Amino acid sequence: MIEKLAGGEQGYLERLPFGALKAAQTGQPAAHHGSGISPASQAAPDLLSDPGDAMHSLVKELYPICRSITGDGVRATLGCLSRYIPLDVVEVPTGTQVLDWTIPREWNIRDAFIKRLSGERVVDFRNSNLHVVGYSAPVCALMSLADLRSRLHTLPAQPDRIPYRTSYYAETWGFCLSHNQFESLCDDDYEVCIDSTLRDGSLTYGEYLIEGESSDEVLISCHVCHPSLCNDNLSGIVIATALAQELARRPTRYSYRFVFVPGTIGAITWLARNRSVLERVKHGLVLTCLGDAGRITYKKSRGGGAEIDRAVAYVLQRKASEFAIRDFSPDGYDERQYGSPGFNLPVGCLMRTPHGEFSEYHTSADDPSFVHPAALADSARTCLEVVDVIENNWTYRNLHPFGEPQLGRRGLYESLGGQVASDFRLAMLWLLNMSDGTNSLLDIAAKAGLPWQSVKDARRALCREGLLDMLDQRPV
Ligand SMILES: [Zn+2]
Repeated sequence: MIEKLAGGEQGYLERLPFGALKAAQTGQPAAHHGSGISPASQAAPDLLSDPGDAMHSLVKELYPICRSITGDGVRATLGCLSRYIPLDVVEVPTGTQVLDWTIPREWNIRDAFIKRLSGERVVDFRNSNLHVVGYSAPVCALMSLADLRSRLHTLPAQPDRIPYRTSYYAETWGFCLSHNQFESLCDDDYEVCIDSTLRDGSLTYGEYLIEGESSDEVLISCHVCHPSLCNDNLSGIVIATALAQELARRPTRYSYRFVFVPGTIGAITWLARNRSVLERVKHGLVLTCLGDAGRITYKKSRGGGAEIDRAVAYVLQRKASEFAIRDFSPDGYDERQYGSPGFNLPVGCLMRTPHGEFSEYHTSADDPSFVHPAALADSARTCLEVVDVIENNWTYRNLHPFGEPQLGRRGLYESLGGQVASDFRLAMLWLLNMSDGTNSLLDIAAKAGLPWQSVKDARRALCREGLLDMLDQRPV
């Protein structure tokens, strides 16, 4: 037992600041399976090497791509991410039944515009891919403004913003434009064109499994189906990529499975194709809306009392900044698929400002200026702190339970001094008292309100002195 702990002590994410572990790494990156569409380069930029600027640059790079639930935009996005991590890219053909759904036709678009008869483009897809209703059928027509109006979507209350609209499962077409643009339309007739295709093809998603010591898995999921929208879409994508890049360099107790899926249909597709994997998923997070300046919000898993819920709550309570924790609800992002009753996976959703609660949501104002490097960095750091908790959350047993063992005789008092030492001493007392085999390290740290590092340090010292023994079981 002690030997096993000693191995874990050296292996499990003992230090958190970005880059700290990398400098200490001597081993090879953790194994991963499969082959990505292009291997991640050894020279790929390190997304966590600076306080958020590299992640923000990746947001800006991905921003112009016209993503949807299928099509080349998703492929281009995954191709870009494969510079950082060796993604497996999966193509699932149109018509494939996935749970209660069917993979739709693949949508691609080259160009779209509303043109005055003089030839001037008054709405131009080349300026913003939000100008076209997602999944619009192709059209090329001369139309009166009167007939065109019903095809035009605006936000009268936010007249300078272009809304984001889609129609995946009811075939139609339309344009989105700012209300100011709309009000400037005064010609009788316009030429309209949407140069798109809706054809049999496939739905594309990306997956990357980092194998840890255990086959038990942590599922990290984000959606990759929104076009030029940054907080809702790209922030989750870049943070998931940064986490994967970082965790691939570290020895880990759990295996980590990253999935980059189109919202709803992509998660349903992944679930339908991975039934055998699901029993190994012990924890999970959906990552989204993680780049705005708001406080962190965590939406609990369906059960609400999962270890991931307690780990996130503990980490947020230890942070200096404000946060919010919400109960599960069956709306939002793909946590509602992972948390549907048949699967009931322990997957929560980590956000800053939740969807629909920032005015930029699903508008052209959710652009690169709305996400901030510092917020991205804080979100990524929070994720790594949560990972550190679940990686180290074992259960222990006090081997000297009758009265407090004499710590001074074992040299555990002499090294004390200052606030950190005080936390260390308290952590030792808490661990000795509560380690009766029923409380995990997280249970004890949360009850004691002590820093995770102090609890880990105390755990290490007590195990080294033979006062604690790790139980070979996951906390429940
Ligand atoms: Zn959205």
